[in-house]
Amino acid sequence: MKTIAVIGSTGSIGTQTLEIVREQKDLKVVALSAGKNIDLLEQQIREFEPKIASVSSEQDAKELYSRIGSGKTEIVFGMDGLIACSTYPDVEIAVMAVVGMIGIRPVIEAIKAGKEIALANKETLVTAGHIIMPLAAKNKVRILPVDSEHSAIFQCLQGNQGSAVEKIILTASGGPFRGKKKEDLINVTASDALKHPNWSMGNKITIDSSTMVNKGLEVIEASWLFTMEPDKIEVVIQPQSIIHSAVQYEDGGIMAQLGVPDMKLPIQYALYYPIRRKLSMKRVNFFELGTLQFERPDLETFRGLALAFESIKAGGSLPTVYNAANEYAVAKFLANQIKFLQIAEFIERAMDRHTLIKEPDLESILETEERTYQYLDSII
Ligand code: NDP
Repeated sequence: MKTIAVIGSTGSIGTQTLEIVREQKDLKVVALSAGKNIDLLEQQIREFEPKIASVSSEQDAKELYSRIGSGKTEIVFGMDGLIACSTYPDVEIAVMAVVGMIGIRPVIEAIKAGKEIALANKETLVTAGHIIMPLAAKNKVRILPVDSEHSAIFQCLQGNQGSAVEKIILTASGGPFRGKKKEDLINVTASDALKHPNWSMGNKITIDSSTMVNKGLEVIEASWLFTMEPDKIEVVIQPQSIIHSAVQYEDGGIMAQLGVPDMKLPIQYALYYPIRRKLSMKRVNFFELGTLQFERPDLETFRGLALAFESIKAGGSLPTVYNAANEYAVAKFLANQIKFLQIAEFIERAMDRHTLIKEPDLESILETEERTYQYLDSII
């Protein structure tokens, strides 16, 4: 039995991780962590009987406790609760599937506690990659990518260690607004942006896909995970989302990973790495598919992607500003308080006024996040 913690168990990645637990039978859930969805967490606690579970607020923790009683599961809350779940002694592998920068401290503490990390929470690496990657190396902890593109790259690197990589080819579906120009996007709403053509995901990442900021975050994530210069990461639109990404080696050979768009494969690969287990999901049928298309991304319309390259090239605290401004703007857009095109505009304004900190420590990262929110609050 492999013991796991699922941090963000009520979300899209979290619930799919639990589907794998149901299917595979040899994974034991020791810790579950949610934000506000205590109804679903209650069901998950009854089904998986973890030793510990956490929610965001003390009030929700009390409510949950009143429902499940003092049985097998200890209930905790807040940041301390998240950390208690991700570092719980019996946990071997922590699936980090919370959304946003809230994941930084739980990831850092889990690494310090020697847990293997199955990482979906890309915002953590984007903002604190320079802390997390050396820390993982020092603690001999593996960071196994869950993001489908990064899992694909990781899979393409297997067996080729030591061979020189010429570039990483990071594929993107293009999202619901592929082919549109800025003038077409002036009045699009959150519900338009939430209609992703291929993937079913949480709200924040779905909006990030529509702006292509998600691909920007992934470029930064890939540069940390695979120690790759941003200039050697090429974004290619592959509208069918069948090629999940590829690696081009110096002999010109390209290794790509293909499959239907289903997150269960990368989640399961991270949980059982290096073993590939049977997984009951659809298979690619090339005859039905017929063709695969490729396009160049439109960096003018999807300015958020260009800004990601600028932020990672400058490095230091700028990716934190990029990410924090995006988290702020996406929340406002989902609440119908700003327009779609303002998301990239806010990111750019926040980046423009920021004074770079070269090697920000955790405190400076969190301070930069807070300052970015304050600045955007002042201009909205
Ligand atoms: P969801 O919004 O579906 O789920 C987020 C999870 O985090 C929920 O369990 C939520 O709890 C919890 N959460 C949110 N805020 C807090 C908080 N303040 N404290 C504690 N828990 C909190 O997100 P996704 O599953 O879509 O994405 C998770 C991460 O994985 C993101 O970083 C995303 O970029 C990445 N990712 C997702 C993919 C996907 O297919 N969904 C693909 C690749 C990467 P609750 O709902 O109970 O409030």
